[in-house]
Amino acid sequence: TRVWIDERPDDSKLVDLPSTCPVCDSPVVLPEGEALARCTGGLICPAQQTEALIHFVSRRAMDIDGLGERWLISFFEQGLIKTVADIYQLHKHQDEMITFEKLGEKSVQNIIEAVDASKKTTLARFIYALGIRGVGEGTAQNFAQQFGDLDSLMSADMDALIATPDVGTITAELTYEFFRAPHNVEVIEKLRAAGVHWDTVEQVASDGLPLDGQTWVITGALASMARDEAKAKLQALGAKVVGSVSAKTTALLAGEKAGSKLTKAEKLGVKVVGEDKFLAMLEES
Ligand SMILES: [Zn+2]
Repeated sequence: TRVWIDERPDDSKLVDLPSTCPVCDSPVVLPEGEALARCTGGLICPAQQTEALIHFVSRRAMDIDGLGERWLISFFEQGLIKTVADIYQLHKHQDEMITFEKLGEKSVQNIIEAVDASKKTTLARFIYALGIRGVGEGTAQNFAQQFGDLDSLMSADMDALIATPDVGTITAELTYEFFRAPHNVEVIEKLRAAGVHWDTVEQVASDGLPLDGQTWVITGALASMARDEAKAKLQALGAKVVGSVSAKTTALLAGEKAGSKLTKAEKLGVKVVGEDKFLAMLEES
């Protein structure tokens, strides 16, 4: 959380950050105040393209078991796949796939079947699979719950995006921009046209729930459950669960080893709820 300059050895050398991407040669930028330097190549950078493909098929995303990283990269290098949408066109290239070394007819069949099986997914997984920067699994789930369907999310304005639990300005902006880029919309349309689908999300109405209108933050370790579980329970009671304490926070659920969030809550006079009290509250409701 901070740099200990005092601990820095005298012979330390300044790190020379590459000014261009080692893969695509596009300029590298390190935005002011951020920790990560990034290649600006976007869709033209092969390294970014392959990482996007690997993320898309991963277990927590589209879960295309059988289409491993190795084949994915081979198919990419041979031009069979350019974007994630092409994964659903692989069945048209079976003759070509069989010519790959160590990829027999049976393996090709398995890949085609795995790709086919992944067409039935959930909206949350699909959103996560798109690889929007800042949108992890939790945020993808919140978006699915908040908007209920993809079209509403794609057309959502900044205010609507920020109203999603745990979504801050930066993630909202990145999401907004992602859905305004024509190439992203095109890939999404191709995926849908290929038959990628999900069941309608059942949105939970928070009206009348005990914690409706309240904003909670969780910090520290809870003895009785994981934080994700506590978060889900609070959301089920109608609360919005966000990542940082502010004057708008209704309550802070503080477990063991609560740190800076607890200090901030105390400073702002935000109600602090311990685990025992939280469990009692769950019991009651
Ligand atoms: Zn690059």
